[in-house]
Amino acid sequence: MAAVAVVGGGVNGVMIAWTLARRGHAVTLYERDALMGATSRASSKLLHGGVRYLENGEFGLVKKALADRAWWLAHAPDPALAHPLSIVWPIYRGARRGRWLMKAGFALYDALAGAAGLGRHRWLTAAALAEGGDGLKREGLRGGYRYVDGQMDDYRLGLWAAGEARNAGVALVEHANVERVGADGAVTLHGETRRFDAVVNAAGPWAERLLAASGLAAGVQLDTVRGSHIVLDRTLSQGYLFEVPGERRVVFVLPWQGGTLIGTTEVRQSPDEAAECSADEEGYLLALYNHYFAAPATPADVVARFAGVRPLIRSAADPNRALRDYRFARHGRLLTVFGGKWTTAPSLAAEAAERLDALLAHR
Ligand SMILES: Cc1cc2nc3c(=O)[nH]c(=O)nc-3n(C[C@H](O)[C@H](O)[C@H](O)COP(=O)(O)OP(=O)(O)OC[C@H]3O[C@@H](n4cnc5c(N)ncnc54)[C@H](O)[C@@H]3O)c2cc1C
Repeated sequence: MAAVAVVGGGVNGVMIAWTLARRGHAVTLYERDALMGATSRASSKLLHGGVRYLENGEFGLVKKALADRAWWLAHAPDPALAHPLSIVWPIYRGARRGRWLMKAGFALYDALAGAAGLGRHRWLTAAALAEGGDGLKREGLRGGYRYVDGQMDDYRLGLWAAGEARNAGVALVEHANVERVGADGAVTLHGETRRFDAVVNAAGPWAERLLAASGLAAGVQLDTVRGSHIVLDRTLSQGYLFEVPGERRVVFVLPWQGGTLIGTTEVRQSPDEAAECSADEEGYLLALYNHYFAAPATPADVVARFAGVRPLIRSAADPNRALRDYRFARHGRLLTVFGGKWTTAPSLAAEAAERLDALLAHR
């Protein structure tokens, strides 16, 4: 048994801590604020393979994420925390991605899910989509593909995982800002240094900051990209995924707690600034909704807004093309996590634990 410190109480830190405790280690998790208080509660609430990442050629990530999606759906203690969700990708005349390209994409998505699939994609005619009652604009609508992904309550599901970690023996320490970490297993808080057999830096968008504050070179660079959402006081029978007119981007419109969640955006920002949905982003998301739905929404229909900063691996000039997979970097007894989707936290945690065990074997 080894003594391991994990820095960061988002979904990745919590899942790593839980996995290490199940392997018999004595784990202490330090979170600067409250558990699940940062990026991990500001997601689009999807447990998904990420059908659009197929365009970036991230087949390995999508396959892994589809297996992780199944893991969450099987382990979540209550359907309110995670459940399957039907999502339709409508195709309009002049769409950037035509019907047959989308057919190929969804067939690949089903194949990559394999036994973890939630049902094969299906083509719906324009008439069938219009009958759905969500008020999609009919003009130019050719039809759409319906597929199934998972939807979660990211905050409550993350806190459930933290509870499981605690039950497995993890000491969860909130309001504990780690000032420095060391390649020798040192963790400095409140000016005092404690020694561990190993340390995991799972500080999400702040992982690079923590290394810099510790005088360590990161090796991997993060691209920190804000994503904002708005919630409308309108019901929706199923989710939708729309192309943003004139852009390569897509935006989700999803049923969420009796309202309609719309997101997201991609705006580079430093993780040191507060993540907030700007007036421009709200306007962009409302314009997207109004482009596709017949009954226009105005700022008066917006009942909530939230934003988070994605920790992406810096890999492209356009953040939309940035890789969504995660990476690890090692400095002696310190393992740092870069990136990682909410959905893939179980795989990331298993891989981190393998690396930690290999590192500890050479103590
Ligand atoms: C807008 C948006 C939408 C998204 N949608 C989805 C989605 O639908 N599905 C999906 O799978 N993924 C989604 N993601 C990605 C996913 O939310 C993140 O990749 C994931 O939550 C990152 O988790 P994390 O634990 O690495 O980071 P975080 O949740 O940010 O956790 C890091 C924690 O470290 C703490 N910390 C930082 N520095 C210190 C320190 N020095 N000492 C102690 N603690 C520290 C922070 O307070 C924070 O709580 C989305 C992300 C965004 C921004």
